Amino acid sequence: MSHRSVAPRSVDAVIVGAGFSGLYLLHRLRGLGFSTRVFERGDDVGGTWYWNRYPGARCDVESMQYSYSWDDALQQEWRWPEKFSAQPDILAYFSHVADRFDLRKDIDFNTTVTSAHFDEGARRWTIETDTGEKISAQFYIMATGCISTANMPDIDGLSDYQGNTYHTGNWPHEKIDFTGQRIAVIGTGSSGIQSIPILAAEAAHLTVFQRTPHYSVPSRNVPMTPEYEREWKEQYSERRAAMRYAGGGSYKESNDISTFSVSEEERREIFEKRWIMGGFAFLGSFNDLLVDEAANETAAEFTREQVRKIVKDPATAETLAPKTYPIGTKRLCVDTDYYHTYNRENVELVDVSGSPIERITADGLVANGRDFRFDSIVFATGFDAMTGTLFKVDIRGRDGLALKDKWHAGPRTYLGLMSESFPNLFTITGPGSPSVKGNMATSMEQHVDFVTDCLIHMREHGLELMEPELEAEDKWVETVQRVANGTLFPRANSWYMGANIPGKPRLFMPYIGGVGTYRKICEEVVAEGYRGFRLHSEHAAVAAAE
Ligand code: NAP
Repeated sequence: MSHRSVAPRSVDAVIVGAGFSGLYLLHRLRGLGFSTRVFERGDDVGGTWYWNRYPGARCDVESMQYSYSWDDALQQEWRWPEKFSAQPDILAYFSHVADRFDLRKDIDFNTTVTSAHFDEGARRWTIETDTGEKISAQFYIMATGCISTANMPDIDGLSDYQGNTYHTGNWPHEKIDFTGQRIAVIGTGSSGIQSIPILAAEAAHLTVFQRTPHYSVPSRNVPMTPEYEREWKEQYSERRAAMRYAGGGSYKESNDISTFSVSEEERREIFEKRWIMGGFAFLGSFNDLLVDEAANETAAEFTREQVRKIVKDPATAETLAPKTYPIGTKRLCVDTDYYHTYNRENVELVDVSGSPIERITADGLVANGRDFRFDSIVFATGFDAMTGTLFKVDIRGRDGLALKDKWHAGPRTYLGLMSESFPNLFTITGPGSPSVKGNMATSMEQHVDFVTDCLIHMREHGLELMEPELEAEDKWVETVQRVANGTLFPRANSWYMGANIPGKPRLFMPYIGGVGTYRKICEEVVAEGYRGFRLHSEHAAVAAAE
């Protein structure tokens, strides 16, 4: 990948991450004449799609909707081979975008940002990398995604293991041949559920260690048809506009009626219809599934029935059928043949909900008092989501305050975009914004546009610094929790709640009030002169709206 021969020591903006949002942000800022450098840990573009190369990795948002909307020629010309794209196709898309808009020349690959300190006197950020570079920037923008720090569980004996270990979130680039192997998969979230059917078909034997069963709906993925593609391309502008104000940032999501406003028979028909449609549409069967426990239970039970219909061994079916939390409150999984996989002779499910995996041994692991032997162990154990990657960089704001310390009891942001005491630091899809609670593509573009508009506004008004007011931030943190507490989400031990990482504060991190509602709030904030933000000129704080 290209590296600059003469790297500037000082730029307008440093962006961390060359994934979905980092690439778009670079394109926008550079186009507006802001000098911009991107640092990327990987050796190419793609972000989450660069790292998550495990067998079966696929986006469960439709490609026509999980793609850039900001260049009509791009969205008209690009051909997606399937309804839900596989990881290699998504990576090819980002590579094309990088070439098409000549983005690589401003990206330093294989470079990890290690620290970013705000210099009060200079009113700039000093950023250091693991390649020894030190660069000064007025704006420091973390475009590092929400699930980019893999969670490797701390199981005794891990270093004793002599076989191969893999983590789905950090998968090798070369094809791994599992033919004839005895494999363990630990974890049954989206990554586990996508990889298990593929691994089972290849391995001699596959043992799945399940701590909590996830609800999963079939994706019904199909090759892209010319009709479907044409329909989307003809209506892209209207559909993208609708997506921006939709609850989940996607097109045609929900049925705006409540669960008990229809008869039991009609309800079942609606669930059946949506189950056949496939994908997240199922959760949109009714408008109250995520707020009303009894309503939720009807959808949860329908899902359990499908599991019991598919899985032949009744005991295995019961272990796979989630019962301890409402459907949708841990992220819904979308699969191809996941439950069918348990009808294979070479697949075994081991329930470790009662007692954790005891230890890893030289040639396998011990769980439930049983000794298992494996050639390879696949950790599909998820991520230190939302905050993990932000905390990996030593980010310090005013008076040397560490972001990690300020957020020790949970993230504190205004709109998920900025945190008080950290001027000119923006977090794209940061905690407190809708981010993972909707189509990330829609939310990432909205944040990139918001941040770009801030920079334009500041340049036009001769302003140097932007920072949230503490009061606005406190109120927003309260709002995020209040909205979440009005739903069933806090009932599950999910990564949304930080519950998958020992010691992490337990609170709901994304804003669940809706992508469209959030966008309107942001628009009002801007219309009211960046309400809740302080914008400073060189010598004194001034009101932004003039
Ligand atoms: P995840 O949803 O957090 O699942 C991790 C799994 O590992 C869970 O089943 C968890 O059990 C289990 N686990 C963790 N530590 C364990 C331990 N010590 N012993 C036994 N089991 C353990 O992670 P993920 O599957 O990588 O998915 C994360 C997110 O990435 C998804 O929710 C989604 O947002 C995104 N994703 C999207 C796609 C897509 O678009 N198709 C694909 C993959 C991932 P518990 O549930 O008990 O904690």
